[in-house]
Amino acid sequence: MEKRTLLMLLAPLALLAALCAGMALGLRAIFEGGMPLVDGESFVEGRIERVVDSYTSAFILEDAQGVVLVDAGMDPAAATLTAALARRGYQPSDVRAIVFTHGHGDHIGGAGAFPQAELFALEAEVELVEGRRVAGNLLGMVREPSPTGLQITRALEDGQALQLGGLELEIFAMPGHSLGSAALLCQGVLFIGDAAASMADGQLAGPPPVFSADRDAGMASLQALAARLKPRADEIEWIVPSHQGALEGPDALLAWTQE
Ligand SMILES: [Zn+2]
Repeated sequence: MEKRTLLMLLAPLALLAALCAGMALGLRAIFEGGMPLVDGESFVEGRIERVVDSYTSAFILEDAQGVVLVDAGMDPAAATLTAALARRGYQPSDVRAIVFTHGHGDHIGGAGAFPQAELFALEAEVELVEGRRVAGNLLGMVREPSPTGLQITRALEDGQALQLGGLELEIFAMPGHSLGSAALLCQGVLFIGDAAASMADGQLAGPPPVFSADRDAGMASLQALAARLKPRADEIEWIVPSHQGALEGPDALLAWTQE
């Protein structure tokens, strides 16, 4: 009996230890050998800027009509993001839309700081963004669905060209890292979220193992994206993952096309 009680006490601790070990391995897989993250990394003559929030990124996209964000970082107060916006002369209320690469907490966490913004995500990601479903990865195992307070204005479809003022974002479904992960192409910049990772040697790796719902599907998505964009390779000036620095040109993606 005593032994059983002890086991019942130890089992959750063992599970927790296994989770921690898994996450540590996952984090290592994300950051080891990755292209370093650089705050303020900019594209399209400075009109697109990366804002680093801890180990993740949000992106400011500026046009004549104001600002759109790709992702919102993880800080609920969006402190670094609002500071970067302020340096460009914008208030949080000037952000008219946020397009999410996916619904993980480190990409949507700051969105509540921009209550006026319209929110966009792929249809398959809406429940995750709104907190009606948990992530299909290791972290999801220890969580219950809980409302994020965010409401998607309009669900997006694969292949759609989303027009936001003067900005057009082309949407590509990348199921794998999460069910509704997306890559977004805007003015030669391919925002790839966590659907791929850039390595310091210039290669593009697949989505991180531990934090992805279905890594094999994620690899297949990357191959499919490479095949789709191959005929338009000259349009791709930058490949921009959320947790590592950008890769210049289309080659790292084209390496994923099969013979
Ligand atoms: Zn993610």
